[in-house]
This record gives sequence, C-alpha cells and structure tokens, in this order.
Amino acid sequence: MALSLFNSLHRRVEAFSPLFPEADAIGFYCCGPTVYDFGHIGNFRTFVFADLLRRYLEYRGFRVNHVMNITDVEDKIIRQVAATGLSLAEFTGKYTEAFLSDLQTLACLRPHHLPKATDYIPQIIDLIGRLEQRGIAYRAGDGSVYFSINKYRACGCRYGQLVTLDPEAQQRTERVSGDSYDKDDLADFALWKARVPADGPVFWQSPWGEGRPGWHIECSAMSMAILGPSFDLHLGGEDLAFPHHEDEIAQSEGAGLQQAGRPFVKHWVHAAHLLVDGKKMSKSLGNFFTVRDLLNKGFLGREIRFLLTSAHYRETFNFTLEGLEASRSALSRLDATVAQLTEKAAGSVGSALGDPATPLPLESALIAALDDDLNVSKAWAVIFDWVRETNAALASGSLSPSAAAERLGAWKRVDQVMGLGARPVEEAPAAALALLEKRNAAKAARDFALADTVRNELKALGWTVEDSKTGSKLKRL
Ligand SMILES: [Zn+2]
Repeated sequence: MALSLFNSLHRRVEAFSPLFPEADAIGFYCCGPTVYDFGHIGNFRTFVFADLLRRYLEYRGFRVNHVMNITDVEDKIIRQVAATGLSLAEFTGKYTEAFLSDLQTLACLRPHHLPKATDYIPQIIDLIGRLEQRGIAYRAGDGSVYFSINKYRACGCRYGQLVTLDPEAQQRTERVSGDSYDKDDLADFALWKARVPADGPVFWQSPWGEGRPGWHIECSAMSMAILGPSFDLHLGGEDLAFPHHEDEIAQSEGAGLQQAGRPFVKHWVHAAHLLVDGKKMSKSLGNFFTVRDLLNKGFLGREIRFLLTSAHYRETFNFTLEGLEASRSALSRLDATVAQLTEKAAGSVGSALGDPATPLPLESALIAALDDDLNVSKAWAVIFDWVRETNAALASGSLSPSAAAERLGAWKRVDQVMGLGARPVEEAPAAALALLEKRNAAKAARDFALADTVRNELKALGWTVEDSKTGSKLKRL
C-alpha cells in the first residue's frame, strides 16, 4: 500500500506519488505565518500537521525539501511598524524569532528554507512583469497592479480549481459594490500595491513606481524560486484555500512557467479549523491561546503537540484545557511504559535497536493507519493498544531483555514520526529536595505521621517520592 492523501484539487483521496520520480527530493511548501504577533494554537495546528506529514514522508523513504515562507510585509505589520516606531526588520525579526522558537517547542522539524517575502522582491517583480507581458496583469488608476481573472480565463486557464465558484453570485456582488474600486472587475486581486502615505518607510521601487507586493504573489514567487515552477505538495489551513491558494495557482500557472501538462502543484492538502471550547477563537471571548499562554499554564510543548495531532487533519478540532490535561495523563502512561522497557532492555546484548528486516507489529499498524490519508487518530489508537499490551507483557515477566530492546527500537522509530520525544528531565527545586531529606529523616526515625505530612507537602509542590532498594528519589507528578 502507498500513502494516500486527500487532494483538494480533485476533492478526493489519491495515492501520493512524486511529480518527478527521478528528483532527489519532494517539493513541499506550507504557507507560513504573518509575523505581527505571537502565533496562536489555530495557526500551529496547521504547522504541526505539516511537520507530521513531512516526518511521515521521510519515514516512508522520501527526501523532502520543506519550504515555509515568512510573510514579513502586510497591512497589519505596516500599522504596527508605524505605531511602534521600529523598523520593519526589527519588528518582524522579533516575531519571526518567537515563531521559530514556538515551532521548536512543539518539536516541529525546522523547514529547510524559511524565505522572507522582503528578500524576494526582485523575483516578485519579475513574476508580475511576466503576467503583465502576457496581458493578464494590468495597472489600475491608483497605480497598483491587478491580476485580471477574465484575461486569465480567456487564455484557457481555469479560475476555481480548489473551490467551486458561483459566477452569478460574483456578478451580483460586482453590481452592488464595483463602483468604489479602480479594478476592472471586483474579483481581481492586487499583485503590486502602490505606495500610500500610511505605508511610511515600507516601500520598494518597481517598474510600476513605489509600492509593495500583494500577499498572494509572495507565495507564488517564493515557492517557484525555491522548488521550481511545478512541485509536489502545497499545504495550508483550509481558510487559505480561497482566495489565497486559488490566486497562487492563477498567478503561477498564468505566468506559464510550467512544462506542458504540468500543474503548479500536484497535491493540495488543507488542514481544518481549530475551535476552542466549541467556539471560534477570539480575544474577546477569552478562549484565545498562544503557545506561550499554554506554557505559562505549566503545559509542555509535547503535550500541546499530542493534543493538536490527536484528530484527523480534515476534521474541525475542538481544543480545550481539559483535553490538554487528558493529554498529560495519556503521555505519562506512555512515558511509564517506555521507561520500564528502557530499564528491561538495559540487560540485553547486541544491537536490537537497529532496524529490523521486517517492521514489527507496532510499525506495520502505524503504517497502515498513516498511509490511509494520515489517519492519526487511528495511529494513536495503535500506539496506546501497544502500550497496554506491552504493560501486560512486562507485568507477566514474559518479556526478555532483547524483546524489550526490540520493542523500544520500534517505539523510537515510530516516535520519529509522532515527534513526542522523551519527557524533559526536570530538576527538583531546592524546596522539594529539603522536604525529601526531612521525609527520609522522619522515616528513619520511624515517625510515619510526619513522613506522610511531608509527602503531602511535596505533593502540593508537584512532586512525589519513589522508594527503591537504592534509595528514594523525587519524581514529577
Ligand atoms: Zn501562501
């Protein structure tokens, strides 16, 4: 069986196969953040999903060339630059760093390329120039350059590949509000925005005068500059399918850079929305969370990642803090099993951690689940069945050290896809260490009432005591 994915271009699940089988890597593009604030968990659902798909493609033996753009020029950014008095680079640099750090917190592999729109102005200008030469782009009365959807269609191209458009509804809207625009047609979109006083110092020179690029053209220019005019996979949140991705297709295919019969992108994959407590996230409802907000509440990046990957990417996902608590306890069960396997495997000889000739049952079941349109909820069910079954084998004493090492090896390979990593070792604070000493002294003096009281004090600090033959140690609750 091969990996299959829902392709938004054809509205069906299709087997994934590379566009250029001889190429040394798959071209993989995911629309990145607009860096004017800290990223919220709705944004990160898409980025964690993209990371999971990349990791799985790599696990299945593909080399992936992963590109994620950084939108560092845009209306909201320009307003903030004016308000803060910072330069564009200073302002966006701060949020780009924060974004990359959040990505790392969620154990997302760093994309191979992180192009910033402002570093690709010459490529953007070239692409607009090409569209203008082909008669698809035009300069409007306000000095901006627009993409003409009608001219594009007249060239035999199709606008409406990712969504089904209703031309009548479009015309009705035009009649209502078309007068207030310089555009030939309301549906036309800006490729180059002429400089206005509110832009302040944010502008570039171009053949059409001073201005800045539109958002859609940035992704077309950056993706094709790095991955070529045709590439394999383009990802993003479902809210980007229209108009952003539809416009990316129009600009890229309108420029006619692809070989005959080749599309701009072969597989379009969209991740569904995220709700919080059943509602759209909004600051006014108090259900708006950045990754940092959740870390400040004491959650770990791996717990957030686990929750964000717990539902199928095409299902709307309802995020709750209770769900995050449940993720914590699910991960502690998994961690406990992995810790026991590690202890047991320590006595094994040889290199059972190496890749076996045939995948172990855990891996075969994982492959079956993820090949099926990245059915991640099934994958987690497989993993937690394995946890239960491994716990039973450990409890019955039937697991030899080498069998434990094999299971551990399978888990480590599976985790290269799931990306949980080991629970970070947390140093106990001095207050907890002092309580441990006090409790040990009480126990030695056979003052069990005091020992219990101190144990409860430790619990209040979030620590518990584990006694073994070699002594007692603190463990995070
Ligand atoms: Zn984009």
